[in-house]
Amino acid sequence: MAYEKLEQLYEGKAKKVFATADPEIVIVSYKDDATAFNGLKKGTIVGKGVINNRMSNHMMRKLEAAGVPTHYVEELSDRETAVKKVSIVPLEVIIRNISAGSFAKRFGVEEGIVFDEPTIEFSYKNDDLGDPLMNAYHAVALKAATWEEIELIKKYAFQVNDLLRGFLKSVGIDLVDFKLEFGKLADGTIVLADEISPDTCRLWDETTHEKLDKDRFRRDLGGAEEAYQEVMRRLMGDAEG
Ligand code: UDP
Repeated sequence: MAYEKLEQLYEGKAKKVFATADPEIVIVSYKDDATAFNGLKKGTIVGKGVINNRMSNHMMRKLEAAGVPTHYVEELSDRETAVKKVSIVPLEVIIRNISAGSFAKRFGVEEGIVFDEPTIEFSYKNDDLGDPLMNAYHAVALKAATWEEIELIKKYAFQVNDLLRGFLKSVGIDLVDFKLEFGKLADGTIVLADEISPDTCRLWDETTHEKLDKDRFRRDLGGAEEAYQEVMRRLMGDAEG
């Protein structure tokens, strides 16, 4: 099936979304633009769009094969992918295996504490409010999701964690934490949406603990391009995936 881009429906910080002739399919186009701290820091990570597109698709295909429903349909080019049209559930779902980032800050602990069990938290997807932390009761009160949807989202999120951790560990990378977004199809089915990439995951080399993710950009560590390439190379090899 050849999908072609029609009008642009949306432009976000890292992606653009286009309509297609099929009302149930949209095309996502990944940009090299990088933002952090709710858009306050802006820059470019050259080649990021290609890597995030290809890595996210690789992960979505593996998750789908393992029984997690996703929005993925077909990779169209280096930067473009056809996905099922969803309405995004306005919850950012964050799973953590190791302390870092806002967790370390909020609870006053060092980064790098390995948890006995993964944690889950939600934040309300609202840039104007800075994505505030939110619990399931808040989400239901705000009609962001129903209890049934939240239970399903939690189940999928922990399944994704188990699977991703395994895929990454096999190439010498520890999955520290990550953010997922879910969407609803027209019939109400919940599917994994958005992306899984070094923009949305913290990835540390298992031996050197070198950061191989967007923290290189957030924290001005340098070498973001090389880090993204390294993740892609380990997961998918140099040429094909
Ligand atoms: N994350 C994300 N988008 C957001 C917030 C967080 O992709 O808007 C990811 C982030 O890359 C990290 C995880 O979610 O892998 C946990 O982020 P945290 O809450 O520690 O926030 P941060 O320190 O990034 O502000």
